[in-house]
Amino acid sequence: MNVIEKNEVREGQVIDLTHEGHGVVKLDRYPIFIPNALINETIEYKVIKVKKNFAIGKLIDIKVKSEERVEPPCVYYYKCGGCQLQHMTYQAQLNMKKEQVINLFQRKAGFKDTVIHDTVGMENPWYYRNKSQIPVGKNDEQNVIMGYYRQRSHQIIDMDECLIQDNIHQEVMNKIKLWFNELNVSTYNEHKKQGLMRHVVIRTGHHSGELMVVFVTNGKKFKQSGIIVEKLLTAFPNIVSIKHNINDTHSNVIMGQTSHTLYGKDEIQDTLSDVTFKINDQSFYQINSVQTEKLYQKAIDYAELQGEETVLDTYCGIGTIGLYMAPKAKHVYGVEIVAEAIADAQQNATLNQFENTTFVCGKAEEVILKWKADGIKPDVVMVDPPRKGCDESFLDTLLELNPRKIVYISCNPSTQQRDAQQLATQYKLTQITPVDMFPHTTHVETVAQFERR
Ligand code: SAH
Repeated sequence: MNVIEKNEVREGQVIDLTHEGHGVVKLDRYPIFIPNALINETIEYKVIKVKKNFAIGKLIDIKVKSEERVEPPCVYYYKCGGCQLQHMTYQAQLNMKKEQVINLFQRKAGFKDTVIHDTVGMENPWYYRNKSQIPVGKNDEQNVIMGYYRQRSHQIIDMDECLIQDNIHQEVMNKIKLWFNELNVSTYNEHKKQGLMRHVVIRTGHHSGELMVVFVTNGKKFKQSGIIVEKLLTAFPNIVSIKHNINDTHSNVIMGQTSHTLYGKDEIQDTLSDVTFKINDQSFYQINSVQTEKLYQKAIDYAELQGEETVLDTYCGIGTIGLYMAPKAKHVYGVEIVAEAIADAQQNATLNQFENTTFVCGKAEEVILKWKADGIKPDVVMVDPPRKGCDESFLDTLLELNPRKIVYISCNPSTQQRDAQQLATQYKLTQITPVDMFPHTTHVETVAQFERR
C-alpha cells in the first residue's frame, strides 16, 4: 500500500523548493514534488507519478498564493524548456540560489564558518544572452518556424520573442524566419534526418555591438545564401560576420566541425573590462557578459593580487580569466583541454599585447604535474572546471603546490562542495558568492575563496 496513489487529488502546504525550483509537499516524511508550486503556498495537486521514495504532482489550484509569485512575462513560459523560474519574483530566485549554496556547504558538508554572501543579481535580468542558438523547422502547414524546444522534447515552439536573448536577436530571428518562408528554404527534420536548415546561431559582442549570424545546415548546398546575406546586411548594419556551418551528423550537437565565412570577418570582437577578445562561431565565451564581469571581478578580489604573483588559470577556456588577471600579476599560466580554445587564448594574449601569459593545451590534471616538475610555484590558482568538477589527482597536486590562495569558480555547486572537502585538509574555505549568470533558470554559479591554513 502506497502512502499516496496515482491520480489522487490532494491539498497540501508547500514547505520547501528543490534545486530544480519544484515545490515540496510532505506526507509524514514522504515528499511530493510539484513543479510551479512555491514555498508557503497552500495548493491542490494531482498525483501523476508514485515511486518508492517520492511522488510527482501536478499543480491544479492555488488556495493560498505566495507573495513571491508573479505572472511570468513570457507567453511561452509554461510550454518552453528554456526558463524554469519566471513564476517567482527575481529576488525570490536570488534567495533560492543562495539557500541552495547554504544547504550544500553549511548544512550538508559542515562548512559552518564559511561566509555565504547574497547572490549577485542583475539590475535588469532580461535580454542577457549574447548567444542564441535557435532551432529551425516547419509546422503542419509547412511554414518555417523558429524558437526553442518544448520542455523535455525536441518539438520547436514557434516564437517571435525570447525574453532572455539579446534584444537585437529577436529582430534578426523574425526577419530570417520571414525570408526562409519567402525563399522556400528547406528545413531539417530530425526524425526523417532530411532537409537543410538546422539552426540559426546569433552572437553579439555585448560592449562592441558587433553581430555574427551563423547558418547551420545539414549538407553543403545553401543556394539562397547570397540573397539572405544581402538582406541581412541591409537590415542590420552591425553585422560584421556571416558564416555557414555544416553539420551533417545526426546528433544533438548543434555545430559541425567545418565553417566558412559568407560575409565579412571570421569572428567578432568584444571587450570585458579593458581586455579585448576575438570570438569565432565555435569559441566558448561566457553567455552573460554583464554578469561575467561581476563574476571575474569577484574572482580577482578573492585572489587579492598585488602584481607580483604567479597565477595558474586552470580549465581556462579561451583564457578570459587569466587575461583579465594578466595586468595585475607577474605571470599567468593557463591550461585547457580544447585545442581551438587555447589557440584563441594565445591570439587574445597577442591582441592585448600581454607578454606575461603562457597557455598550454592538455588535461589540467596532467599539465599541473608538469608545471610542478618544472618548478613553477603558483601564489594563486584559479579553478573553473566543467560540471563534473575536478579530477581527484588534480586536487592532490594542487595541495602539493600549496598556493597562498585558491579561487574556485563552479557551475555546479554540488561537485564544488565535494572538491572543497578534499581541499579542506590544508585550506580554509573562507567565503562563497553565488553569481546569477542565468536569470529565470535554475543554474547556479559560485565563486569560492580558499586560504592556506
Ligand atoms: N574559465 C573559462 C571556461 C570554463 S568552462 C571561462 O570562464 O570562460 C570549463 C572548461 O574546462 C571548458 O572550456 C572545458 O573544455 C575545460 N575542460 C574540461 N575538462 C578539462 C580537463 N580535464 N582539463 C582541462 N580543461 C578541461
